[in-house]
Amino acid sequence: MRLKRLSPKQRIGTNQRNPSTKMAAPKRRTSKMKQRSRLAAQAWKAPKLGSCPKCGAAVPGHTACPHCGTYKTQSGAEVVVKKVD
Ligand SMILES: [Zn+2]
Repeated sequence: MRLKRLSPKQRIGTNQRNPSTKMAAPKRRTSKMKQRSRLAAQAWKAPKLGSCPKCGAAVPGHTACPHCGTYKTQSGAEVVVKKVD
């Protein structure tokens, strides 16, 4: 199919590949770098773990230690949380 040349005014809101439709169409192909850096930002990353001040077990941030139940507050006070079954 031969495409008809459109003036810039006619081009607004039309798809260049199929001028009969009025759909949003990308102007340019996404470059490899653009695509890869976007996907790299979306990639899953392992949660960063701290260590329990009391027993040294790996603990995710803002969480009481699953091993001994200690939670260290910002003021340095240690709070021991008991598990409820
Ligand atoms: Zn602990």
